[in-house]
Amino acid sequence: MVYETKFYDILGVSPSCTPEELKKAYRKLALKYHPDKNPNEGEKFKQISMAYEVLSDPEKKAIYDEGGEAAIKQGAGAGGADGGFHSPMDIFHMFFNGGFSGRKSERKTSNVIHTLSVTLEELYTGTKRKLALQKNVICETCEGIGGKRGASQKCAPCRGTGVITKVQKIAPGLVKQYEERCRNCRGLGETIDDKDRCKDCSGRKTVRVRKLLDVEVYPGMADEQRIVLRGEGDQEPDCRPGDIVLVVEEKPHPTYKRSGPDLLVYLHLQIAEALCGFRKVIKTLDARDIVIQSCPGEVVKHMSTKCVLGEGMPVFGQPTEKGRLIIQFIVAFPDALPPEVVPEIRKYLPGPPPEPIPEDHETVELMDFTMDQYQKLGEEDDGSDEGGAYSRFHPGGERVHIQSCNSS
Ligand SMILES: [Zn+2]
Ligand SMILES: [Zn+2]
Repeated sequence: MVYETKFYDILGVSPSCTPEELKKAYRKLALKYHPDKNPNEGEKFKQISMAYEVLSDPEKKAIYDEGGEAAIKQGAGAGGADGGFHSPMDIFHMFFNGGFSGRKSERKTSNVIHTLSVTLEELYTGTKRKLALQKNVICETCEGIGGKRGASQKCAPCRGTGVITKVQKIAPGLVKQYEERCRNCRGLGETIDDKDRCKDCSGRKTVRVRKLLDVEVYPGMADEQRIVLRGEGDQEPDCRPGDIVLVVEEKPHPTYKRSGPDLLVYLHLQIAEALCGFRKVIKTLDARDIVIQSCPGEVVKHMSTKCVLGEGMPVFGQPTEKGRLIIQFIVAFPDALPPEVVPEIRKYLPGPPPEPIPEDHETVELMDFTMDQYQKLGEEDDGSDEGGAYSRFHPGGERVHIQSCNSS
């Protein structure tokens, strides 16, 4: 007589079932409710796993039979909050890797690497993505055996090893040994008769399925940061599944440049705004409008920079902390002024008194010219060109276009 039958009911077995029946029940349900097949049945999968973990362990089973779920949760003790239970995935992999007692298989299928292209907005706010991909999962029909139970036979030519050792004479009395994949069993170590072979996987033990994966991009993630989906790689019998690794690729943003936790932005001002003050709206990456303004009487110089604290990128792992928003001002100068207003404007601008002109002088013509070509010839500093916008923030990397005129 057992205290309660909940765990037995979950697995659909009677309390008097044999270990074989228990395994069979778990195998069937675990494959059916594995999140790869049934992403919405996570709770069910968890229950199946817990029930099996308890009932397959004679000690835990005894505790459960005597005091039910409460007793097992209390008694497991040492494991902390979840009472020392393994994760459902661990149970699943341990089961399909030869049971709890056997050493966990060290073999692992290879990791699959994908690129995940995300916008700067998504890296700012964080986002959830659905990723569709093809993967191999253990065939449900044959439960990863490849055919009828007992139908698989150890491959004779390779004696079940999957490899054949060959000997090659390379010189008289000198031989070389090397291994080759067994052709008879294609390296599987076993063969299945055509008539017993599983129809769904053709004896391959796995089938290819389309899987939708939920991927979470967290605020502040960086370009080239890796998101690892553990155990989501291809499944294979007697093998731990590898991981799916997503490499974040930050798309270039039309307005903002990112430099670690800081955001860099150019703000274009007309000369009137630079001299007489400005008030500007900046759209943040999470679509808020923030307003910045100059102090009364302040003149904003071309290429000067200012910053707003806490309006940069969130710091990965501490999303409430944010970097700086660095603003560089680009001041547009007019090409010309009406000559009649010049004396009036001059009154308000600092400047030296007119220079005395020697009597004996020559007036020469001033032509338009840009420093670009000239600079290229003499450029010795490191590739300040390739940094693009960033180089303009880099001390020494300044690019100045001189078009002003000193004479009056
Ligand atoms: Zn199959
Ligand atoms: Zn073979």
